[in-house]
Amino acid sequence: MIDGRFEVIGAAGPTHFFESLTAETLSHGYLFAGPAGVGKKTFALRLAQSLLCITPKTTLLGYCGHCSACTRIASGTHPDLYVAAGQVKIGDRDSAGFHAVEEATARDLVRQLTMHSYAGGRRVFVLGDVDFTREAANALLKFFEEPPPEVELLLTTTAVARLLPTVRSRLVEVTFPLLTAAEVAAILEREGVAPDAAAHAAQLAGGSTTRARALLDGEGTTREAATAWFFQTLEGGSADAAGWATRPALEEGLEVVKTLTRDWLALRVGGSDVPLLARDQAERIARLPERDPQLIARALGALGDAERVARTNVSPALVADLARMALVAVGTGA
Ligand SMILES: [Zn+2]
Repeated sequence: MIDGRFEVIGAAGPTHFFESLTAETLSHGYLFAGPAGVGKKTFALRLAQSLLCITPKTTLLGYCGHCSACTRIASGTHPDLYVAAGQVKIGDRDSAGFHAVEEATARDLVRQLTMHSYAGGRRVFVLGDVDFTREAANALLKFFEEPPPEVELLLTTTAVARLLPTVRSRLVEVTFPLLTAAEVAAILEREGVAPDAAAHAAQLAGGSTTRARALLDGEGTTREAATAWFFQTLEGGSADAAGWATRPALEEGLEVVKTLTRDWLALRVGGSDVPLLARDQAERIARLPERDPQLIARALGALGDAERVARTNVSPALVADLARMALVAVGTGA
């Protein structure tokens, strides 16, 4: 007997709940409800692994990580673990329609649910972000009511009220709360996000890793848009500020423009040995026209003014125009 490991960041309540269960008191089906990005599906998959792991353990929650079952789960090939996501349709009338690979139909599920276990033990079904058409729900109802022996159903949803009461009433509901910022940051770091960026996104994410990842993606896009705008403006092209001159992206976009301007000034004053902040743009900054450093410094000041204006209620487009005038003034010496 070992103490299995069970690594899910956050979800203290659900962890505590399942720790108190035994194989005998485990229900046949659970519905994990809560906001997006709080670990419902991760928890369902770890619970599935705990139930399928063949190493004897002291508690229900936990897995060894190296038995044949754990190895197969890690490679996504365990024959007794069925994982799907999204809306479940009845599946017999839209055969001409498009199906995402991991989308399950009620027909698939009925077939899968009536199959025998490969390993002779449990079979676990994880249905993430699940939603059923009425027809699909009706076709599956008897399985929710009384699944075949050894079948475990783990469903997750962000919109529990949208599920049909007939489905909901046949499953044990477990609520997953929002994560703390520290938990969100820890999850992002585990995914390879740099600690600073993870902490920053976690602060703004309101307890959801989904929102944090969207913020990280969005900030990347803002940076690219503002960088492109900066060079186009200085190279005399028609620059479109639409990619960063929006209320949520404005502050970040201006910061990018200021950073590039500061680097431009640093290169002109200190030469090519000066360490730049936007290192990935060093070559392009070096190719910018020779300008009087005093003019660049003045533009930097004007960008600081634009930043202060940005904190008031003026439109982002107007702030972008102030920034554009600040940069163009360097070129004209105005
Ligand atoms: Zn194992």
